[in-house]
Amino acid sequence: MTAAPHLPRRIVIAGGGTAGWMTAAALARTLGPLASVTLVESEEIGTIGVGESTIPPLVAYNRILGISEAEFMRATQATFKLGINFENWRVPGEAYFHSFGGTGKDHWSAGFQHFWLDGKTRGHAEPYSDYCLELKAAEAGRFAHLPDDRMNYAYQLDSGLYAKFLRRMAEADGTVRIEGKIAQVELCAQTGDIAALTLQGGRRIEGDLFIDCTGFRALLIEGALHVGYDDWTHWLPCDSAIAIQTSSVRPPVPYTRAIAHEAGWQWRIPLQHRQGNGVVYCSAFMEHEAALDKLLSTVEGDKLVKPNPIRFRTGARRKQWHRNCVAVGLSGGFMEPLESTSIHLIQRAILRIVRMLPAGAISAHDVAEFNEQQMTDMEQIRDFLILHYKVTDRRDTPFWRHCAGMDVPGSLAHKMELFRETGRVFRKNEELFAENSWVQVMMGQGIVPQSYHPVAAKLRDEELTHLLSSLREQVSRTVAALPPHGDYVARYCGADVPVAA
Ligand code: FAD
Repeated sequence: MTAAPHLPRRIVIAGGGTAGWMTAAALARTLGPLASVTLVESEEIGTIGVGESTIPPLVAYNRILGISEAEFMRATQATFKLGINFENWRVPGEAYFHSFGGTGKDHWSAGFQHFWLDGKTRGHAEPYSDYCLELKAAEAGRFAHLPDDRMNYAYQLDSGLYAKFLRRMAEADGTVRIEGKIAQVELCAQTGDIAALTLQGGRRIEGDLFIDCTGFRALLIEGALHVGYDDWTHWLPCDSAIAIQTSSVRPPVPYTRAIAHEAGWQWRIPLQHRQGNGVVYCSAFMEHEAALDKLLSTVEGDKLVKPNPIRFRTGARRKQWHRNCVAVGLSGGFMEPLESTSIHLIQRAILRIVRMLPAGAISAHDVAEFNEQQMTDMEQIRDFLILHYKVTDRRDTPFWRHCAGMDVPGSLAHKMELFRETGRVFRKNEELFAENSWVQVMMGQGIVPQSYHPVAAKLRDEELTHLLSSLREQVSRTVAALPPHGDYVARYCGADVPVAA
């Protein structure tokens, strides 16, 4: 007879940054009285203090947890995000947009890009971007919720306020927060599992399942369990960032800016009450002082905090789940925030923990499945990020010449060559970035497909003209009816601090 399952009763979360509180909020809400959730964090150590731009799955995550969107946005000074404007990436002075929405209308046999490419050969010169609602709305600085979720969006938020918001929710759902510095991670002599965390001062916190959310320190998964790290800096060479917050000088735009420079790039993330800014760079090609100067000389508005320098090593922990410990957040690995994917990886890890929650003893098959799924996510995101550096016409600095000349993973090389030859992209294994994301970035970075699907030629000239013009009209009509993004935010979820005029 099958035994009734029982959960690990005591779940201990080490660390209270975005990862820690996202985990606590989800576990406390989902499990209720089935398990105790305890979170240990140290105010003295603090959090990384960045992580403000997100991608659309966060909308679903908040819905799963029953979070009111307007309340959440008000509490985190959030704005809407329709995509990322990539400036200076293919060549200095040019930009392209990676939007969250679909473009045009796909046929089951072939994506819209094939019909658009065919249109070009028949004299239709309008850009690919003209067929994307989210993209045109972003360009026009407009936003509204549309019926049937017809507009795909994410949020730009204050990460410190987000952690506080989740903390309130998690504590209301029964999470116990303990302030203190973890001094030691105690292993069970028989099993090798983590038995307890000992804080400075001697307090001991025992648990059955431990979630490592201690950020880059990775105190449990690496410090105690030594799972090892795959270093990906040979593919993504940027290893440093400096972040700073400034006052807003204009109403917020519904998109994040990623502006390439000589040895990396800069971000601009508009929130309701301020703007998040940062510079990402490769220390082998740019000195810290030069990066700081680049940041400070280009930001707009008053500087609200001191610049926050951050060093990182791109890569992934070899095991995200090992024994009775799961790494969530920066403890599991890190890739630069070019496509705002870190909070998403946190979210995916949490959903997987819930789906694979042990029924009694931890199953080695669950652990293997978790690690494979999480690593697949990370490798797919890694490939997508490398694409931005590898495919470029920039040869103006040693950094860009280095990127253009580097080897790329076979999985990415295949994807790029397939698109270059045939215009085709395929999404595998629930990949985060769908076909249209790859198409936008590959074409934006400069890959021109040499051919396209023959089915596109089936449309007669007048049919193709009608298809293309009706799609464009639909987009421009919808965009024209949208309100300015800043007005919509103020009405829907305006926080107490006024939006700068
Ligand atoms: P942290 O915020 O570092 O939290 C670690 C926690 O562990 C803290 O509470 C700390 O006090 C605690 N801790 C550590 N050691 C101890 C100890 N000994 N005892 C007790 N407590 C301890 N992600 C995005 O999705 N979008 C972005 O735009 C984005 N931008 C980024 C820009 C940069 C430059 C960087 C580096 C990252 C960015 N990220 C972004 C990633 C994002 O910031 C993180 O994924 C997110 O903040 C989660 O961090 P964390 O909670 O894992 O770690």
